[in-house]
Amino acid sequence: MVIKIDNDKDIIKFKKRIPLYRTFIFRFTKFKLNKDNKELNEIITALNIKKRKNRITYIYQTLCQKLDNYYQNKNMCEFIDGKCLAQRLSKSDKINGCCRICKYQTNGLCPTKNLACKLFYCDAVYKKHKVITYKDLDLFKCFSPLQRFMVKSDFFTSEKDVINDLYLGIFIATIRVSFRFIKTLIRHRKNI
Ligand code: SF4
Ligand code: SF4
Repeated sequence: MVIKIDNDKDIIKFKKRIPLYRTFIFRFTKFKLNKDNKELNEIITALNIKKRKNRITYIYQTLCQKLDNYYQNKNMCEFIDGKCLAQRLSKSDKINGCCRICKYQTNGLCPTKNLACKLFYCDAVYKKHKVITYKDLDLFKCFSPLQRFMVKSDFFTSEKDVINDLYLGIFIATIRVSFRFIKTLIRHRKNI
C-alpha cells in the first residue's frame, strides 16, 4: 500500500491514521511511502514489522535512541556534585535525583533504557528547559493505547522487563509492575 505524502495535509492525514494502520486489519499489508521522509520512514518500518515482539522492540529502542540523541550533551536536571536541580532547590540532603531509589542506578548513571524515565521531568526542569513529551513522538502512536499506558507507567524498570511487559499484555504486566513497584517502595522507605 503506497502512502502519498506530497504535502502537509497528506502527512497529517497519515499520522492520524497510524492507530488504524497498526491494527490487525492491516496485518498483511506492506506499507510504502511515495517519497522518502526520515521521520515517517521510522513509522513505516514499525508498521511493516508484523511480529509483535519485534515491532514492540523496534518502537521502544528507536524512541529511546531519539530521546538520547535530543538530550545528548544537555544537562537537563542540572546535576552538580550528584544533586539535581530539584534536590538543590529543596535543599535536600539526598543525591542522584529520581534515580535515587532505583535498583538499577549505578554511581548516578542508568545502565538500562527506560522510556518512562527518559520522558519524565519534574516542574523544576519544565520551567527552565524545553522537554520532549509523548505528544512530540509520532512513532509512539505505533503502540496500542494499552501499550502506551503501560510504557508511561513502567518507571524504575529495565528495558528488557518493559519490553516483556508490553509483549505479555496488561493482565500479566499489571502483576509484574505491581510486584516491582512494591519492591521499589520498600527500598524507598529504607532509604528515607
Ligand atoms: S526530573 Fe527533577 S527530581 Fe528528577 S532528577 Fe531531574 S531535576 Fe531531579
Ligand atoms: S531505570 Fe529509570 S530510575 Fe532507574 S536508573 Fe534508569 S532512569 Fe533512573
